[in-house]
This record gives sequence, structure tokens and C-alpha cells, in this order.
Amino acid sequence: MDCIFCQIVAGNIPSETFYQDEQVIAFRDINPQAPVHILIIPKNHIAALTQLADSILIAHMVDVANQLARDKGIFESGYRLVINCGQEGGQLVPHLHMHLLGGRSLSGSLG
Ligand code: 5GP
Ligand code: ZN
Repeated sequence: MDCIFCQIVAGNIPSETFYQDEQVIAFRDINPQAPVHILIIPKNHIAALTQLADSILIAHMVDVANQLARDKGIFESGYRLVINCGQEGGQLVPHLHMHLLGGRSLSGSLG
């Protein structure tokens, strides 16, 4: 198991966890780009969006992100959800993850 996020799921690498259930776990990004920067990932290893059978898991991850935005007090001020996919999509960790970013005014640039 050489996937860093699978190691976090297994508890072998410590993380500041904000939420988990049978399907997903949410923890603080180690290199936060905003006051709130949380990664929401499936507990099962799915390498990328391209490996998804359907969008049900993503819908659940959005539900979790919305709840975390409430918990962190950014639901009203606004936030951004990002999923990078593949090399040119800027995906560095090959285990599907959704970024929840907020707590500051984010630029309108999409890269
Ligand atoms: P990507 O570019 O793949 O969409 O984003 C990967 C994210 O994972 C980056 O924001 C990076 O800071 C974060 N990350 C990489 N390794 C670790 C780690 O070991 N622990 C945590 N909490 N975040 C990590
Ligand atoms: Zn993994």
C-alpha cells in the first residue's frame, strides 16, 4: 500500500480529521491554500475521477463538503470545491479527493 491517502485512511499517517463515515474521510490539507482547506476522500482507493463507475460517491462528497462548510462557518461567506483529475488537471496525489477551500476571498482564476 504505497498510496499516501490510503495510509491516512488506515491511520498509519496522522491527519487532522474533521469527519468520517463508512464511505469517506475528511481531513486538513497539509499545505493549506486558505484558512479552511479540507480534503474529502473515499476510503476505498479510487485513483481519479476517470475511475468512477458513477457519480453517487461524488454526490455524497458534496453533501459532506456542504456540511463541513457549515461546521467551519463559511457556508454563508462562500467556498470552493475542486477535484483535479490527471496530469494536466493538476492532480498530484493519485487517490480521488475533493478540496474544500474557504475563509478568504478566492481569486476568480481557474488556473
Ligand atoms: P492535488 O494537487 O492532487 O489535487 O492535491 C493534493 C493535495 O494533497 C495537496 O493540496 C497537498 O497539500 C495534499 N497532501 C499531500 N500529501 C498530504 C499528506 O500527507 N497529508 C495531508 N493532510 N495532505 C496532503
Ligand atoms: Zn489510495
